[in-house]
Amino acid sequence: MNVMHADFVSEHESQRETVPEIVRDAVRTLLRWAGDDPDREGLLDTPARVGRAWREYCRGYDEDPAIHLGRTFDEIGGYDEVVLLRDIPFHSHCEHHLAPIVGTASIAYLPTDRVVGISKLARVLQGYAQRLQIQERLTAQIADCIWANLKPQGVAVVIKATHGCMTGRGVRTHGVDMVTSKMLGCFRDDASSRKEVLALMQGHK
Ligand SMILES: [Zn+2]
Repeated sequence: MNVMHADFVSEHESQRETVPEIVRDAVRTLLRWAGDDPDREGLLDTPARVGRAWREYCRGYDEDPAIHLGRTFDEIGGYDEVVLLRDIPFHSHCEHHLAPIVGTASIAYLPTDRVVGISKLARVLQGYAQRLQIQERLTAQIADCIWANLKPQGVAVVIKATHGCMTGRGVRTHGVDMVTSKMLGCFRDDASSRKEVLALMQGHK
């Protein structure tokens, strides 16, 4: 190994989060419980990797997703129609089995007098998805956050996802999406507004 390479490796390693022994021991216990041998070669680094991976899966605990909605634009040029971000992919984990939830979210709002940068809606989604979740709460949290911070006329959130705890265990139901929705304001109170936003989310109209 030449010196440059060694420097690169040590710098790279130092940027990695150290995983406390108690966490690595917990993963070793789980591996043993699952029926494997944590001392076999292929699993030696697994406890530390799992520890780092879980910090990343759950990064959302380190932030308040509302911060992404702090900067708004109020010169919207008379725009008074729905703003929709459609089929945003996300990964989360269910709080019952720690199994993956993989899906897409469509997020829409009808502005009152201000809008946010379009990527911010996706950041709100990721902030809540990177926690342990149930799909119903994830859906409601995104809608409530946009409702409270942008004070729009309406918010609509529809999430479709598959749950690893359904496809990989139990009834082993493959190819089944769970769909949840949360409607607030005009999308909850007015049937034609709701119909319009749902049609936009499905890509026709
Ligand atoms: Zn589950």
